[in-house]
Amino acid sequence: MAIATINPATGETLKTFESLNDTEIAAKLDLAGQAFEHYRKTSFAERSQWLQKAAEILEQEKAEFAKVMTLEMGKPLKAAIAEVEKCALVCRYYAEHAASFLADVTVETDASKSFVRYQPLGVILAVMPWNFPFWQVFRFAAPALMAGNVGLLKHASNVPQCALAIEDIFQRAGFPKGVFQTLLIGAVKVADLMADERVKAATLTGSEPAGASLAVAAGKQIKKTVLELGGSDPFIVLESADLTTAVVTATTARMLNNGQSCIAAKRFIVAEAIADKFEKLLLDKFLSLKVGDPMQPDTDLGPLATPGILQDLDQQVQAATQSGGKVLTGGHPILDRPGNYYAPTIVTDIPQDSAIAQEEFFGPVALLFRVPDIDAAIKLANAIPFGLGASAWTTNDQERDRLVEEIEAGSVFINGMVKSDPRLPFGGIKRSGYGRELSIQGIHEFVNVKTVWVK
Ligand code: NAP
Repeated sequence: MAIATINPATGETLKTFESLNDTEIAAKLDLAGQAFEHYRKTSFAERSQWLQKAAEILEQEKAEFAKVMTLEMGKPLKAAIAEVEKCALVCRYYAEHAASFLADVTVETDASKSFVRYQPLGVILAVMPWNFPFWQVFRFAAPALMAGNVGLLKHASNVPQCALAIEDIFQRAGFPKGVFQTLLIGAVKVADLMADERVKAATLTGSEPAGASLAVAAGKQIKKTVLELGGSDPFIVLESADLTTAVVTATTARMLNNGQSCIAAKRFIVAEAIADKFEKLLLDKFLSLKVGDPMQPDTDLGPLATPGILQDLDQQVQAATQSGGKVLTGGHPILDRPGNYYAPTIVTDIPQDSAIAQEEFFGPVALLFRVPDIDAAIKLANAIPFGLGASAWTTNDQERDRLVEEIEAGSVFINGMVKSDPRLPFGGIKRSGYGRELSIQGIHEFVNVKTVWVK
């Protein structure tokens, strides 16, 4: 895949970039390795000051950064601005809390003194996706750098200007040279990077094939990985739910980021007793969405990031109808304008055991399923290979407790939309990946948990 900025709203190629050659990659690896030797000795106070400065730059220049994101991957500008603000938030969160998260922990044993010490691992490779081009990188970098690690970013090939802007932010914030570098390279170079002895661990956010391929390369070298992969999250609405709020949230949760979010609600599992009403309200909401230029402040839904994503999504919708699904609205690309636009779509009546019901739809397509009761809702929610985040709606305490206990996912949100928050761990189970980002768990992923025992 070429490294280029191609505006998804117009199809126009705005800028192309040369991939780094092997000599240039080696020089960056050298620099990263050297940077770690002195950076690991810096204090939490110094790192915190640099990260606070990064937060300031993000806030001061959010309008410009947001524009680059929208230009490269098509998310509505207002969402891009919110994304930059959230990056500042995660920087501040770890700037404030890293020292306490990584402080020595005394444990009483037979020793005169025994404790746990957290130490950085070294150079960490981050392979990142285009869908939240700033947020995904900052939620890795803020804890990793605060822990004393050094970061190497291999960003998605369609967001090179975002990748370069992020490197620039860390440099301007005062981090020593080489502590955070962007590598403009294709995916083919990732396995070689994993084999380099200076790279100690890696994190990847993206598709299952990419995650599996990184895990194979890392496994051969016995190196740790964190994987944040796909999902087909359930949005369960039971009879007692506040339907009006549920429908408004359902629409936001499906359309966020033009439908291209790992934790978007993708399968709407609704109790039969309220299903007709839910379906009608959801349809009204979908019909009221303003589809258009993502640079315009009132746009709800912009284009998909690439023509390939548009094509894949359309094929999935066709497969869903071939297996018995009915299209309630949409179900086709929008062809009367340039760019990768897909109509907001609702598909009902897909057989619950069909192969297509197991897949992740990465775009503005809601799959609607009807179930007789909570048992069937939980069964269907769990009947997929993924387990990222689930949203469930009920006002009944017993139902709530069952949903929390029985849903197989990295998170369960009751009467709210699944979202990431620096204070809470984020990640999946099953084929959605392993490991956690954010919170105290996130900063503990890339450290040596060293046991110290003194007689
Ligand atoms: P993708 O193709 O897997 O790309 C993600 C990153 O992996 C890119 O940097 C890509 O580089 C790289 N990559 C691709 N193939 C690779 C390989 N064989 N070895 C090493 N690196 C490789 O993902 P996508 O389709 O753009 O992103 C959408 C997916 O990401 C969805 O499934 C979504 O659910 C998931 N996602 C998950 C989370 C989460 O937190 N769980 C968050 C966001 C997105 P190139 O661009 O150069 O190919």
